[in-house]
Amino acid sequence: MKRVFQPLPPTPDHVELEHEILDWWDEEQVFERLRERNRGGPTWSFIDGPITANNPMGVHHAWGRTLKDVFQRYKALRGCDERYQNGFDCQGLWVEVEVEKSLGLNSKREIEEYGLDRFAERCKERVAEFSEVITDQSRRLGMWMDWDNDYYTHSDTNIEYIWRFLKEVHRRGWLYKGHRSTQWCPRCGTSLSQHEQAGEDKYRELAHPSLYVRFPLRDRDSESLLVWTTTPWTLPANVAAAVKPDAEYGRRPSGEWVAVARYPDDEFVDRVRGEELVGLSYEGPFDHLPAQAEVDHRVIPWDEVALDEGTGIVHIAPGCGAEDFELSRIHDLPVLTPVNESGRFYPAYGELEGLSTDEARDPIVDSLRERGLLAEATEITHRYPICWRCATPLIFRVVDDWFISCDEIRQPLLDANQEVEWTPSFYGKRMDDWLRNMGDWNISRKRYFGLPLPFYPCHACETLNVVGSKAELEERATAGLAQLQELHRPWIDEVTIRCDECGEEGLRRIPEVGDAWLDAGIVPLSTLGWQNSVWIEHGYATGAAAGLTGADLPDHAYWETWFPADWVSEMREQIRLWFYSISFMAMTLVGRLPYRSVLTYEKVHDETGRAMHKSWGNAIEANEALDRMGADVMRWLFCGQVPSQNVNFGYGPANEVKRRLLTFWNSVGFLVTYANVAGWRPSWGVEPASAHPLDRWLVARTRQLHAELEDAYERFWTPTVTESFERFVDDLSNWYIRRSRRRFWDGDSDALATLWWALTRALQGVAPVMPFLAEHLWQNLVAGPCPDAPESVHLASWPDRASLDEPLLEEIADVRRVVELGRQARSSSGLKLRQPLRRLVVQGAGPAQGHADEIAEELRVKEVEFGTVDAVQVRVKPNLPLLGPKLGKELGPVRAALEAGEFEQLAGGGVRVNGYELRPDEVLVERSGRPGWAVAEDDGVTVALSTELDDELLREARVLDLIHHVNTVRREQGLELTDRIRLTIPRADEDVLQYAGWIARETLAVAVEAGDVPEPTIEKT
Ligand SMILES: [Zn+2]
Ligand SMILES: [Zn+2]
Repeated sequence: MKRVFQPLPPTPDHVELEHEILDWWDEEQVFERLRERNRGGPTWSFIDGPITANNPMGVHHAWGRTLKDVFQRYKALRGCDERYQNGFDCQGLWVEVEVEKSLGLNSKREIEEYGLDRFAERCKERVAEFSEVITDQSRRLGMWMDWDNDYYTHSDTNIEYIWRFLKEVHRRGWLYKGHRSTQWCPRCGTSLSQHEQAGEDKYRELAHPSLYVRFPLRDRDSESLLVWTTTPWTLPANVAAAVKPDAEYGRRPSGEWVAVARYPDDEFVDRVRGEELVGLSYEGPFDHLPAQAEVDHRVIPWDEVALDEGTGIVHIAPGCGAEDFELSRIHDLPVLTPVNESGRFYPAYGELEGLSTDEARDPIVDSLRERGLLAEATEITHRYPICWRCATPLIFRVVDDWFISCDEIRQPLLDANQEVEWTPSFYGKRMDDWLRNMGDWNISRKRYFGLPLPFYPCHACETLNVVGSKAELEERATAGLAQLQELHRPWIDEVTIRCDECGEEGLRRIPEVGDAWLDAGIVPLSTLGWQNSVWIEHGYATGAAAGLTGADLPDHAYWETWFPADWVSEMREQIRLWFYSISFMAMTLVGRLPYRSVLTYEKVHDETGRAMHKSWGNAIEANEALDRMGADVMRWLFCGQVPSQNVNFGYGPANEVKRRLLTFWNSVGFLVTYANVAGWRPSWGVEPASAHPLDRWLVARTRQLHAELEDAYERFWTPTVTESFERFVDDLSNWYIRRSRRRFWDGDSDALATLWWALTRALQGVAPVMPFLAEHLWQNLVAGPCPDAPESVHLASWPDRASLDEPLLEEIADVRRVVELGRQARSSSGLKLRQPLRRLVVQGAGPAQGHADEIAEELRVKEVEFGTVDAVQVRVKPNLPLLGPKLGKELGPVRAALEAGEFEQLAGGGVRVNGYELRPDEVLVERSGRPGWAVAEDDGVTVALSTELDDELLREARVLDLIHHVNTVRREQGLELTDRIRLTIPRADEDVLQYAGWIARETLAVAVEAGDVPEPTIEKT
């Protein structure tokens, strides 16, 4: 007889079946058919935050990409029309740094020597290479996207849209050039903005010198200010010293002034308030350097001087610190910028010229020591900011950067954020916090392969010309158009334009490029064709993106349809990055946020909960994980995680997932085995109609699963999806199948049809989370035997929600609870499962009453009684940390009374003893079975299991052991399920022959006899 279903191996080979399914999807064009089917359906708009096309995808990306795919698949099952556009982030510091590394370039000078044109080509090559790698990896993960039509942020189209934004920002008067103290990476040679540097991992524990330095006061013989610094390189740029005006300062016998609060035990020969020191003049630590020639060093007041570290007198170098710079504005201090963009000293710093801030440390310390200015030199280890891209310790520099003022946009953004549905919800507050505290947006980077800022200052009339499009550039150009291959340096730098205001020609672009978050922030407008009059086929594939993608530039009507996104999802860090930048840009241009709801998630850590780092050896490559655990297992692991907590990722957790999925696999295997034995065939589209109570229950339970999954998907909450499914599989396997075995052995078609229906429904429900395994099993269970069924589980429609038989569900839930408690009671008593027992008393599970026989059978007890459990013994002990102080010497008698059981339990959990009423938290209540009983309770249900054994019970246990043993031997000897045997047992066990009929039935024996054998022996007949 031909088998209807393919037999299942004992375990699924996830990796192998996933490759088969990928090929099959391709051959059958399943994704294309799904999109075709849903075209014209209700739209569900998702906008993808771009992944940087700079390195292979990591497992930390796989979490987010899994979630994106899960919800797109779910919405597709529900018939939604979707866009499926993937995005790549393609320019800016990320890409530059990696290309520099691969070319062995170590500074901006070396990049310029290499040639900006060649450098740009290398950056584009890297993007092309890794966008392909990431595409392959994402397909392997099961991600269904419109892979040939990705957006690339380095396309001219994307750049032009940002230009339009910048022109609008300028029109509103928000654009300005700021002279500011900013965090600066000396290796990358650029400033970094607040949002780039805000993450926790942007700091490292570093050792720095800790110096106490004397600044001698002028006109005060042998008196000096004592200051503390951990950045010696800033001392040559010192211009002032700050004191706290209302703090007390004291002069040591040595002449050093310090804050008294810092040295309360020191001896002082003079004490004054800080304000009395203000205005004093002192000798700077490096007055001999040319840069210091004009500086008049004075003591200034500053309320923020800290009195919890240092000396209470702060050295001020406005060119080397943000607060110092602010003070220079207030007190009109000179600003000395000691180092250039590579962090090396300028010529005006004499012997320090050309040294890096690190290299200058020793000469500075030596010089101070020689001149008797160094009071003390040690080391300190502290948290210090490092470059988010290259991990170089940052310094502060005062530079000119371009900023967008956020004063006017802040409130509209805050208001709009109140309407967004954040998951988990508290992330919405994080967004509020960010918006309330965000500083002006620093948009300029002194780099090469990035968005060229279209700013053309006019040297004649001082107007800032901002170009808003390529067409405008072409119209105003006075030279350089012919060689403009794309909107990137160096080509864009050759184009000069005419001033709008005065007509002056030959205006040059400023050299800066833009913050990469402008590139990613514009995509809700640039990829959807906002304000584009005609649909342009492949119109997005311009400039550097030409040839990489076939993406169209849609028209404005399309934008109207798909904007804003119904849903976006990125990791929590993106609150201050991508969510911020898309919000800022869309609010500016169209007055709305570009998304309605957000799912945010945390980080991927290793399986012990540590952050993953290549250098720590605990990082797992995405390819390795895909090859070793398989995509479905990865996806299940990610989806099972509550997204507001880091996920612990690794092979241990993956094996745990596999183990749980195996229960489902085995349930399918069970159906396949017995359906094939019975020659049973399923029919597609028939709802099960069996009247058998277990079948009715499984149908209700499956509908309940379906409703739970639907609710969870609608809330974007995958942990409930995996949890509901796992609970369902437990019910299916450990109740339905377990209780129905005999019906399957008998080939009962009602049981087969009901189980088949339940399994196929479950497959549909979890297909978005484990698309491969669901498809593989669907092929076997549904598509193979049912020619009229959907060929793919992903092409089957999401079933309608059916009303639930709640009373029946509660009834069986109670039965399962009683059985579970019965098992707990059994295991607490130490009795083995095969030991029959006399009696079980159940209290508090009324709906389970009709199932006494099933409970008795499951728990192997002869009698189940519903009533009051009085077999419980309550022991109360004092909670000593609380009661000790409260009762004092009364504690002894109270404890004795409790021990003797002389107490009364009060409603609510308290206890009355010796005239005291003790609160529930003041006592520890232990409940246990009286001798001869094992008790378990949970959530209002209590069961008591009689543990007393008699000869009959003991004999029955031996019979069960024997049956188990014989069936194990049958399997070991390779007997078929239908083979009959002759069984011989040792004469010592002759007394169990009174149960020969029972034994024969359970072992398919035609004869059971005692004989001269050392152990039970079987013979096939
Ligand atoms: Zn850097
Ligand atoms: Zn002009």
